[in-house]
Amino acid sequence: MKVYFLGTGTSQGIPVIGSNHPVCKSTDFKDKRLRVSVWISWENYSFIIDCGPDFRQQMLSSNCHKVNGILFTHEHSDHTAGIDDIRPFNFKQGEIPIYAHQRVIHNLRKRFDYVFETVNKYPGSPSVKTIEVINDQPFAIGNKTAVPINVMHGNLQVFGYRIDDFAYLTDVKTIEKTEIAKLKNLKVLVVNALREERHDTHFNLKEALDFITLVQPEKAYLTHISHIMGYHEEVQKNLPEHVFLAYDNLEIKI
Ligand SMILES: [Zn+2]
Repeated sequence: MKVYFLGTGTSQGIPVIGSNHPVCKSTDFKDKRLRVSVWISWENYSFIIDCGPDFRQQMLSSNCHKVNGILFTHEHSDHTAGIDDIRPFNFKQGEIPIYAHQRVIHNLRKRFDYVFETVNKYPGSPSVKTIEVINDQPFAIGNKTAVPINVMHGNLQVFGYRIDDFAYLTDVKTIEKTEIAKLKNLKVLVVNALREERHDTHFNLKEALDFITLVQPEKAYLTHISHIMGYHEEVQKNLPEHVFLAYDNLEIKI
């Protein structure tokens, strides 16, 4: 299985519009971060986790030609606002399955009502087939199984996903023991780490590293990173040897 980091930034992306912060001014390509998303592929299957406002650009730069489905973690715009740009896939493949919590499906129906229109739907609109994700109910994606992992983003429920020995968790602040038990024997864990300072709804760096120590994956990659975290190169130097700061367009094989 290949995992391609389409975006590794927090909600505003890096550089932040109008910012003079040194990380926003950095010329290192690893300091440029689009909104968070990954592309996972194996054999002839190709799935995306989240579809934020940079989706179009991400599909072009990663050369992704097919999407068998989109797994949503939650409804925040940095994870969903790109849904209009699935149209080129619709034109080639027909409707795209989207997997999400029932609450997230309701939210998308409200915000993107034209996508779900049944009467006089504009022919060029995006089209999706909704599949509800329920905690403790693994589901098939292609010939693999995705295990939902229930986490909390402050007061908001969010799903992470485990596929084989890979797990992707974003926007986590707290997680119950029953969910941590679903993360045993991982080869790769991807988890969010916003910055060094504490934050009400996201793991900071220390919380992410403590979580990695608890879960004990072979390797861990940090994502959903703010410019306030610092320069990629400097942050990476101080991480444990099996922990990596992810960066946009990084591809790993599992
Ligand atoms: Zn987010």
